Amino acid sequence: MFGVTILGNNSAVPAYDRHPTAQIVTIEDTLLLIDCGEGTQMQIAKYNVRWGKIKYILISHLHGDHYFGLIGMITSMCLLGRQDSLYVYGPSKLKEIIELQLTSADTTLPFKLFFIALEEDGLIVNENKFTVSCFATQHRIPCRGFIIKEKKKKRKINKETISNYQIPTAFYDRLKDGEDFTTAEGNIIKNEDVTLPTRPCRSYVYSADTIYDRKIAELSSGANLLYHETTYVKTMTENALLRFHSTTHQAASIALEACVDKLIIGHFSSKYEKLEVYLEEAKEVFSNTHLAIEGVTHII
Ligand SMILES: [Zn+2]
Repeated sequence: MFGVTILGNNSAVPAYDRHPTAQIVTIEDTLLLIDCGEGTQMQIAKYNVRWGKIKYILISHLHGDHYFGLIGMITSMCLLGRQDSLYVYGPSKLKEIIELQLTSADTTLPFKLFFIALEEDGLIVNENKFTVSCFATQHRIPCRGFIIKEKKKKRKINKETISNYQIPTAFYDRLKDGEDFTTAEGNIIKNEDVTLPTRPCRSYVYSADTIYDRKIAELSSGANLLYHETTYVKTMTENALLRFHSTTHQAASIALEACVDKLIIGHFSSKYEKLEVYLEEAKEVFSNTHLAIEGVTHII
């Protein structure tokens, strides 16, 4: 399973039972928490997220609506007796903030917490089955988005055709890696004749907070799923530019330019109780747009 569960979809102030930004990305048995606004741990409990499986926490930037829930999460993990290491990624100042909060409370964690400062764009997590890389966005303070990508899976042996050839089973691993087989007589057996292709690697891009920036379209090119913030409706382009946020039309234009399969929009302004206007406007530009609704999982 590769999916994204929305835990918080609002910007700035919690409103209309909407919470500040937080999402869980599930890749098979590993969970990543992206941003951790206030109330995230309550949302985690409400939607039965498996706490113990969260291995990575990625914090995009230090505006409170993206991380004020973090110390609560870490402290609860402590109280729940977590033992597995936790890897927290974020702006370098976050390390001091966490340490100050823990030392002030005389809290000693029963697990190892590794803090990795996001100082450069590029690869930050390299797991067996996926990678995470980060990229800088243009916001009022340093901010980074994330790209989570599956690793290429090995090809499968085609059981129907392999018996037509004399290939030693010791060579099967190399066939799975895509190699051709050369017989003793020098004949080449093409890999595609004896293996089956795997599906293309899936990817998810999280834009974090950002102004309209076509670099994000470039980075998201061909992604299966893009989350792009839409703090403002389409008539508020000037406010968006001033506050370093995006509008509905801008987010949808990025999705269109990047040719992604699906767009999720979120980081809604507390000015709006109803979210339909966001969806209608974004769909004018990119039809496969969905609202980030708390508790909903988008399978990639
Ligand atoms: Zn922000």
